[in-house]
Amino acid sequence: MKIELVRHTDRPESMIARAARISHQTTGEEKDYSSEEDKELIRKLRDWGHWSPFEFSGATFYVEGISRSCLAQLTRHRLVSFMVRSMRYVKQNQEEVVIPQSVKEAGLADEYREGITKSHDLYQKALDEGVPKEDARFLLPIGSKTSLYLKTNFREFRHIIELRGGKEAQWEIRDLAEGFLARLSEIAPTVFEDLTEAR
Ligand SMILES: Cc1cc2nc3c(=O)[nH]c(=O)nc-3n(C[C@H](O)[C@H](O)[C@H](O)COP(=O)(O)OP(=O)(O)OC[C@H]3O[C@@H](n4cnc5c(N)ncnc54)[C@H](O)[C@@H]3O)c2cc1C
Repeated sequence: MKIELVRHTDRPESMIARAARISHQTTGEEKDYSSEEDKELIRKLRDWGHWSPFEFSGATFYVEGISRSCLAQLTRHRLVSFMVRSMRYVKQNQEEVVIPQSVKEAGLADEYREGITKSHDLYQKALDEGVPKEDARFLLPIGSKTSLYLKTNFREFRHIIELRGGKEAQWEIRDLAEGFLARLSEIAPTVFEDLTEAR
């Protein structure tokens, strides 16, 4: 899978700390704080469980090559905005399928590919017969790959990483959550450092 960080809030940690400080500030008292002061405050916010300031910074990702199965899990997160490649309008290619490692280890990769080929042949036949893509897609496996943009704030990214990066989560969405964590840690290390340390 490909996980690309497309955009994010400018100086995200500064934005979170700035939003948080208003709770103790009188109008006109705003001043510049160092990034060390911002980091110190963010750690306190985390310790206090004061999560709303973390909603003031966010990021947009482009994700390519996850299965429709993974997509179904991801889209359960209601605070995320999604834009997904449509199977109504875009024809699916045969090679666009995720093969789980466990299937390979069970020695079933060849049979799996045969099954995929069969379903894709039927998909192609349906298209050739004039069946619209939106109906022909019913013949495709849940392992079919998709691409999407997603956007949310850091509070929700933390929630997703905690839930989906855990060992109880399925491997594909766990890989995705770990990918989010790695990239977000580069732009907002203090916001995500406890999650990284917990790994
Ligand atoms: C290991 C694992 C196994 C799972 N197995 C299943 C399964 O078998 N079947 C299944 O259907 N789902 C399953 N899920 C999905 C799970 O039930 C949640 O739908 C999914 O993780 C989204 O979580 P969320 O609702 O906390 O997150 P989000 O939708 O991202 O919401 C974030 C937070 O906002 C708050 N919130 C959002 N909407 C509401 C609301 N309407 N009311 C109150 N508070 C709200 C909650 O605090 C919530 O935690 C599984 C998830 C995991 C991690």
